Amino acid sequence: MHELSITRNVVAICAEQAAGGRVRRVTLEIGQLTAVLPAAVRFCFEFCAEGTALEGALLEIIETPGGGRCRACGGAVALVERYGRCSCGSNDIELTAGEALKIREMDVV
Ligand SMILES: [Zn+2]
Repeated sequence: MHELSITRNVVAICAEQAAGGRVRRVTLEIGQLTAVLPAAVRFCFEFCAEGTALEGALLEIIETPGGGRCRACGGAVALVERYGRCSCGSNDIELTAGEALKIREMDVV
C-alpha cells in the first residue's frame, strides 16, 4: 500500500512547514489520475500523525478530476484513467489535470 509512505511524506512536510506550531487542519489535493486512494490516505493519516505536530489534525481531501487535451483536434477530454480517447477518435492525449498530489492548505496554530 503506497498510500502509507505518501501519507508519511505529507505529514513530514506539513510538520516541517509548521515550524514548531501545531497543525489543526490540512487540505490535500489528490488527482484522480495519481492512483492514490483518498480513503487509504485518510485511513493512514491518523496513524502517521500520531506523535507529530499533526496529531489530532483534521484532514480534508479534494479530489481533482482527470483531464487532457487532444493533440489531434485540440479538444478537451475528460479522463478517468491515464489513457483515454477523444471523441474525434484520436488517443494522442496530453494530460492536463488530475496528476497532482499536493498540500493545498494548512492551518497552523
Ligand atoms: Zn480529438
